[in-house]
Amino acid sequence: MKKMTDAELCDGCGKTDVLVERDGNEFCADCLTIVDILTSKPELLDHLCTLTGTGRPTTARDTLTGSPRELPDVLDAVRYRTRDRELNTWYVSISEMEGDPVEIFASTAFDRDQHLQSRISNLTTITRLISLILRHIFLGEVLTLDKTLKQLRRSSRQKNDLPDMLSNVLSNYRTSQSEGERHRAA
Ligand SMILES: [Zn+2]
Repeated sequence: MKKMTDAELCDGCGKTDVLVERDGNEFCADCLTIVDILTSKPELLDHLCTLTGTGRPTTARDTLTGSPRELPDVLDAVRYRTRDRELNTWYVSISEMEGDPVEIFASTAFDRDQHLQSRISNLTTITRLISLILRHIFLGEVLTLDKTLKQLRRSSRQKNDLPDMLSNVLSNYRTSQSEGERHRAA
C-alpha cells in the first residue's frame, strides 16, 4: 500500500486532512499520534484513562478474534486469464498474503466498447469494494461507512457516474461524528 498524501477524510476522526496509511486505515496527524501510542505503549492509554477517569477506550483490536495482520508493501500476486460472455479476454490479478486473497485487480482491452469511462469506473468500483471486503475478512481491517464511501469516490471518473451517484446517496447516512462533511459530496 502506498502512503496517501492527498487531503481526504481521516478514518479515525473524519476530518479532511493529509492522511497517512497505517494497516489499511488512513489517519490524520492527530489520530496517527494516538494510534502510534496504542501500538507502541498499549497499556499507557488504559493507565491515562484510569488516572483521568475517562473510561477505557474500545480499540479495533478488542472487537477482533486475534490480532490484525499488517499488509506489507510488496505482495505476491497471481494473475488469471479469463473471458467474459462477449469473449473479451480479462486479466484478473489477486494479491495474496500467506495464501489468502487480500486485493483484486482486473483489466481488459475494452477494444470495442462505446462507454469506456463508465465501464472503467464500474470495474474499479467492483474491485475496490471487493478488496476492502477481502482486507476485512483476511486482515481484520475494520469496515466503516466512510471507508466504503471513500472507495466509491475514488472509483468515480466523471460526475454522476454510478459510483459517484451511489456515494452521494449513501453520504446521507454518515454519522454525526463527521457531520461537518455530510454535504461535501452533494
Ligand atoms: Zn483523524
